[in-house]
Amino acid sequence: MVSIDVIESSPTRIRIRLKGIGRAYANALRRVAISQVPTMAIDDVVILENSSVMFDELVSHRLGLIPLKTDLVRYNLPEDCDCKSALGCPKCRVLLVLDAEATDRVRTVNSGDLIAEDPETKPIVDNIPIVKLAPGQKIKLEAYARLGRGSEHAKWQPTSASVLIETGKPDEFELYIESVGSLNASEVFVRAIEKIQKSLQEFSNQVLAA
Ligand SMILES: [Zn+2]
Repeated sequence: MVSIDVIESSPTRIRIRLKGIGRAYANALRRVAISQVPTMAIDDVVILENSSVMFDELVSHRLGLIPLKTDLVRYNLPEDCDCKSALGCPKCRVLLVLDAEATDRVRTVNSGDLIAEDPETKPIVDNIPIVKLAPGQKIKLEAYARLGRGSEHAKWQPTSASVLIETGKPDEFELYIESVGSLNASEVFVRAIEKIQKSLQEFSNQVLAA
């Protein structure tokens, strides 16, 4: 008999005991949680001004790695969006603006200095350093975030840990998921199940159509 028990649950961690579920399926859940559940991340940056010592490319790379709060109901993956536009639309991309300057002393520009057009898609914390500015230096840019998957780039991974733990009993495992904070850990788990269901449905449709 299949049973699923939540042993531990918080916004960032969930531990679930899976009974009566084969190792292959339990492991699929673990892998899909890492690589197939989408999150928001900055993917396109237009640098308007940068007199810091850091190259534009490095600033862009650092911006991409900042975890953003993710609303999977409101936003579409670009490939699934009706707009079919490479530029995106309000349903598949979010603009974040950074405009910072150091005047009389050295200033560290942090994730909290990014202003998101949708406050629900802001950085999960405000204190991730992006760049240091010396007096007189300035940085001004527009960053575009979109949904993506960990299979495309690690910056879209929703998990910092997704582990299958042996309990020593046959067909019983514990799945431990730790979220980076863009989604609740429980949502990562539920979305992983939905993704597997959807993939199996597509597979059976293809078989029936053949
Ligand atoms: Zn769109």
